[in-house]
Parts: sequence; C-alpha cells; structure tokens
Amino acid sequence: MTSDRTREIIAADRARLWHPFTQMSTWMGEEDVVVIESGDGCWLVDTEGRRYLDGVSSLWCNLHGHRVPAIDAAIRDQLDRIAHSTMLGLASIPSVTLAERLVALAPPGLSRVFYSDAGATAVEAALKIAFQYQLQSGSPGRVRFAALGSAYHGDTVGSVSLGGIESMHGMFGPLRFDVVRIPAPHCLRCPLGRDSRSCGMECAGLAVGILEENAATLAGLVVEPLVQGAAGMLVQPVGWLPAVAGACRRLGILLVADEVATGFGRTGTLFACEREGVSPDLLCIAKGLTGGYLPLAATLATERVFEAFLGGPLSGRAFLHGHTYTGNALCCAAALASLDLLLPMLPGLDDRARRFGDLLERKIAPLPHVVEIRRRGFMAGIELMRDPSAREPYDPGLFVGRKVIMDARRRGVIIRPLGDVVVLMPPLAIPDAEM
Ligand code: PMP
Repeated sequence: MTSDRTREIIAADRARLWHPFTQMSTWMGEEDVVVIESGDGCWLVDTEGRRYLDGVSSLWCNLHGHRVPAIDAAIRDQLDRIAHSTMLGLASIPSVTLAERLVALAPPGLSRVFYSDAGATAVEAALKIAFQYQLQSGSPGRVRFAALGSAYHGDTVGSVSLGGIESMHGMFGPLRFDVVRIPAPHCLRCPLGRDSRSCGMECAGLAVGILEENAATLAGLVVEPLVQGAAGMLVQPVGWLPAVAGACRRLGILLVADEVATGFGRTGTLFACEREGVSPDLLCIAKGLTGGYLPLAATLATERVFEAFLGGPLSGRAFLHGHTYTGNALCCAAALASLDLLLPMLPGLDDRARRFGDLLERKIAPLPHVVEIRRRGFMAGIELMRDPSAREPYDPGLFVGRKVIMDARRRGVIIRPLGDVVVLMPPLAIPDAEM
C-alpha cells in the first residue's frame, strides 16, 4: 500500500514536471513511480522507506555513495564562506585550488581549465574553442568536426550535431551542423565485417583514412576514449585511440577527448586516455568531477591552444563564452573533497573492477539471452538478444531492456537500459557484498 503522502507527491509530479528523456504519456500512466527522499551509502531510499541499490551511480556520476561525511562537510564549510560569486572579472579560492589539482592530475600538456556546469556545456565549449583556435592560428578553413558513429556528447545543439544516434539526434537534422562521421570501432558490429581475433584492427586505418581525406577542413575530432557510453557501452579495441590520436597530431586536427562518462576512475584509471598513453588537446569532464554531488564541468586545454586566444583588448581574440554559475564555489569545494577520497582509491581500482568483471562472467554471461558483456573498469553493458547465436535482436516494441530494469527495481536495484543493453555502473566505492 502506497502512503497518501507518496501518492500526493506523485500526483503533483505528474501535474507539473516534464522529465528528461521521458515519454510523459507513459510516465503519467506508470503504476509504480519511485520517489527518492534520501540516500545512504550506495543506496537510495524512497518515501515509503524502501531501499534500492544505486546501480548506475545516479546516471554515471556518483563515485563514493551518498551522504559522504567528508564531501558533506566540505560543502558546509564552503557554505559558511560563500556559495557563489561570478568568475567574470573576479577570482575565487575554490576555483583556483581545483584548477591546480586538475592540471596536476590530467594527462600531460593540459594546463588550462575552463569551467562550465554540464557534460554538454563542456563539449560545447570545446567545440567553440577548437573552431576559434583554428581561426586564430592561420587555418580559417578548418571549420568542421569529426565524430564517431553512435556518438553521444550531450543535448545542446552543438553536442547534438556531433551525435550519431538516429533515435535521439535524427529529428534535429535541420538544426545540426554537418559532421564527418567515422564508424564506431565496435567489434560485435564491425564496420568492416571483420573478426576481432584476426583483423589487425583495420577500423583504426579506416578512421585515419577518413581524417586524412578531410584534414583540410577539420578543426577537431571529438571522441569518447575507450568506451562509448550512451551508444551502448561500446568498448574500443586497445590501440585504436593512439592510432587516431597520432593521425590528429600529424594532420593538425585537435583531439577533443570527452571523458564526461569515462573520467574519474570509471575505467580504472583517473582518466581513460591514460590507459592508452594519449594526451588530448582538449579534455571535457563533468559527471564524476564532484563525486556525483553537484553540477560542475570543465574543458581543459593545452597552453598552445590557450595562447591562440591572447592579444590586445581590441584584438577580438578572447573566448567570449561563459555561464552564470561557472566555477561555482560549492561545486568546486565538493570536487576537491571528492578528489581527496578518489586518489587513494586509484591503485586498488583495477582489482575491484576485475572482481566486478568476474561476477558478470560467472553470474550473467551464461544466461541464455546475453549476446555480449562489454566492460571497461566499472562501466558495463549487457546486451540482450532474442537469439544470440543467430544475432537476432528482440522486437524493439517488446522493450526488453526496460522490462529487465523494472524487474530489477522490484528486487531493490535501480538501473537503466540503453535499448536492450542493460547498463551496470555502480559507485566506485561499492562494497564487495553489495557488488
Ligand atoms: N558526454 C558523454 C560522453 C556523456 O555520457 C554525457 C552524459 N551521459 C554527456 C556528454 C552529457 O553530459 P550532461 O548530461 O552532464 O550534459
């Protein structure tokens, strides 16, 4: 029996809210809307007192669980000083301290931090920086971007232009700028029809060829390193990223790494680029930056990129871009506290991720409708098909992924599917027993 209080909250929600990525007709008819009221470690607690494991880290951002004493205290401490002041024409202590930390931890060469407040805005800033960089570095003809098939980089119009998921991005065609599309290096659906055990990674050569063909007009290539998350947890073959990064360097194309999902330990290292020894020209971070507490994002740039924006007050070379809450003090304080907790965890992350992988292999892989489990670190996608051996998918109208997650919810776990790929992405700090 649902309490009157919960029923009233749900009625008010249905009357007034418009939920993201949600068909509201379905939502309004949904029988069992869960209203989250509090959190406790890796658990979410609803208004009925029921507990659910936060199996996708509150949309891939929570690292240490909820109500973490050290992060709570850091935010409260900052609140006693000031919650927010603008970065337009003013400096602030938490924004500087965090920038120094991020530069020290980021892949080599990245030396400047431009703050914003969401993954999409971090990507949007990177697009404009790359474009303006080329313009002000003697390459005004480099006005386009390359991105991967099935790419997802957020929901602003620039990020949507990069997007390669037809069901999400297709209808915005008339608003989107033209993008050079590179097939996603995804072995289950190999763009070249090869077998990953013997192919010699021809998909990297394919990508390099496309970059070479279009180099004269390309400002940058935007990629999610190692794992294309929203595309269905597509794991790139090892060696693909360095091959493509090398081509970008040789061809004068800026490499923009979107680590909004992969950053902050999610793949086992602080940044996914590290795994492949790649240093991008621009690095987009968000989600896990504050440990999943507050909305903060950043676009990191190399000094070479930054210097292209320097000039006299009337030179017109400055980056005229920013948001009201850029560099918000509470967000930066949360990020600093989260990093303090995350850094000591890093050496043990690979081992813990391996245990996560072992569990998936033992418990999930043998199930009859699992065609593939794709995983890097703590990012996992379980792809389901009607007949895995014949590679026959389910009828999309059956919403099999959704059925699985609703069943998980009844068993006390909150997860979300991407079509028929069931995503598991627990907080990094999840205790073994809860894993
Ligand atoms: N880039 C990637 C790789 C993402 O996974 C996401 C969000 N899932 C975004 C960008 C957009 O981030 P936000 O939702 O914070 O705008």
